[in-house]
Amino acid sequence: MSKKLKNVKAVREMIAGTHKTQTKTNISFGEKKTFVKREVGEKWTDDDGVLWEQKKGYKVKLGKLSKLRNELTKFPNCKKEICTCTNPKRNDIKMKTIHGMCFDCVIDMEHQHKVDGTYKEYEREKIYANMKSWLKGAEIEKEALKTALKAKFVNEDGSIEEWNEMSWEDVEKKIDNEFRLFKENYLKKWEDKK
Ligand SMILES: [Zn+2]
Repeated sequence: MSKKLKNVKAVREMIAGTHKTQTKTNISFGEKKTFVKREVGEKWTDDDGVLWEQKKGYKVKLGKLSKLRNELTKFPNCKKEICTCTNPKRNDIKMKTIHGMCFDCVIDMEHQHKVDGTYKEYEREKIYANMKSWLKGAEIEKEALKTALKAKFVNEDGSIEEWNEMSWEDVEKKIDNEFRLFKENYLKKWEDKK
């Protein structure tokens, strides 16, 4: 389009009120002294890299974005000299909860174990840690089961009913005992494989 035609087009748009300077509603990032209406909960960064959040009727300073990002991407067990993880992905976050390291550093660490001949031991420890965390979950479920069962023993007046000639205390003892045995066997299997 020639310059002249462009100007004609601009003038036409101006008259119609559709020129971009007339319809612009979103103030773009970086333009100062312009009031931008924010929704409650909206977060934005100003020109100085400071992150803000809009609350009901006021805004709060969340801090420098770079600093916040650093917090999020802190991997306490990564080797500072070799770690290059500056933009963590899902894999890195997953490894962070297990090892406190980014994915690459875990690979490196496991490789080092292989080189040192300590990989088997490392793997065993890892499996053991998994087993223990699984048992912890099972224990919570057991307690939930007990609570649910106990409710069936309680009469409307609050007294506790006997059930199949077993008292609630007997049932509770039985559940705890069974679980303890299960737990011991479960861990013993692992011990035996040493
Ligand atoms: Zn790392």
